Amino acid sequence: MSLRAILLGPPGSGKGTQAAYIVERFKITHISSGDLFRRHVRERSPIGLHLEPFLSAGDLVPDDLVFEMLAESIALACASGGYLLDGFPRTLAQAEKTYELAESAGFTLHAVVALQAPTEVLVARLLRRGEDSGRPDDTEAVIRHRLNVHEQSTAPLLDYYGRRGILQVFDASPPIAEVRERLLKRLDEIVTSADEH
Ligand code: AMP
Repeated sequence: MSLRAILLGPPGSGKGTQAAYIVERFKITHISSGDLFRRHVRERSPIGLHLEPFLSAGDLVPDDLVFEMLAESIALACASGGYLLDGFPRTLAQAEKTYELAESAGFTLHAVVALQAPTEVLVARLLRRGEDSGRPDDTEAVIRHRLNVHEQSTAPLLDYYGRRGILQVFDASPPIAEVRERLLKRLDEIVTSADEH
């Protein structure tokens, strides 16, 4: 019983938190582009220095650089059979490239989980997180910019995956435990039914 899924959602929708639950439940590989990029910035690696301006402004890292960094992990994750991509793909170009990689490894996705919540709920959550995390991109101006970037670049992915019939939309406004329960229940059903076919 394995799961291959993508987790989409604006900043503040609880993506990272729910990703941890999904990965634990299905024992699959977790790839978080944001975590990987932040690690490079923190360690001040050569690529980290290149990434830093994009992250601190809340702009998307260019697709070719994203792929250069993630292609190998994605290929490995595909080969391991089960994975959750978190924060990636974020643009149509990334989605198409990911599809090619998975297809060439002979795998198809089970589900694309999209978390959604009203803008003001997201802003309030991120401001609270900023107080604790000290993340430089959790200030109000950058938060609002990241939400706009998400809306413009990532929202088209809902259409793309909706047309492929694998989109699962969840309201991310309720408390974390409630979202977790609904999400895991739905994913359990999807994996069980995929196993039966
Ligand atoms: P996240 O933790 O997923 O909110 O990502 C933090 C930041 O990393 C984003 O604001 C972008 O600057 C960058 N980033 C993460 N994933 C991607 C991606 N798939 N494509 C482009 N930029 C990304």
